[in-house]
Amino acid sequence: MEKKLVLASNNKGKIREFNALFASRGIEVEAQGALGVTECAEPYGTFLENALAKARNAARQTGLAAMADDSGITAHALVTEPGVHSARYAGEAADDAANNAKLVAALKGSSDRRAAYTCVLVAVRSADDPDPVVAQASWTGEIIDEPRGSGGFGYDPHFYLPQFGRTAAELTAEEKNAVSHRGRAMKRMLAALSERWGW
Ligand code: IMP
Repeated sequence: MEKKLVLASNNKGKIREFNALFASRGIEVEAQGALGVTECAEPYGTFLENALAKARNAARQTGLAAMADDSGITAHALVTEPGVHSARYAGEAADDAANNAKLVAALKGSSDRRAAYTCVLVAVRSADDPDPVVAQASWTGEIIDEPRGSGGFGYDPHFYLPQFGRTAAELTAEEKNAVSHRGRAMKRMLAALSERWGW
């Protein structure tokens, strides 16, 4: 059987990351845009539900096995935020700086700086697959007011890791991949696909 997964994302960085790891097991990852898949809505309140909706949408439109990833950051003191709104926390057209400014403002005066990045990966063999494969990982850190470092993206300059004494933006790409929510969820997905689908 051909080991090919449509990735329900058009983010070039993500496609590259997935291919780098999955190619080692002979799994080909192709961006949904290359197959003409149109994006679906992500209306749900959990990463899991949104990832499942995206994976199903890509499988439905291609007739192929599909995988989706949904991720974000949640501040413990804010309970649900930024959460599934991470990419557009400060509004539809918000950039990283605006999102970070809103998060720092929301935590002003709070002594609880804990936050967690979460990545949920969902793979389905078809749109109506009753048994999706799910892999998830979280990465905990602390939100600091002043940004540090120029690596990574998104909230990384404000995501401080006490065990490293650095922010996520001060880690090399290799260091981040080894411990991050996405890096660890990807490895778990690879193991799950081997166990569940014989890939
Ligand atoms: P998406 O899963 O690509 O929609 O990403 C959701 C959003 O979560 C991103 O736009 C970032 O704001 C945030 N995010 C997810 N993972 C990371 C990360 O590794 N570093 C920084 N921000 C992240």
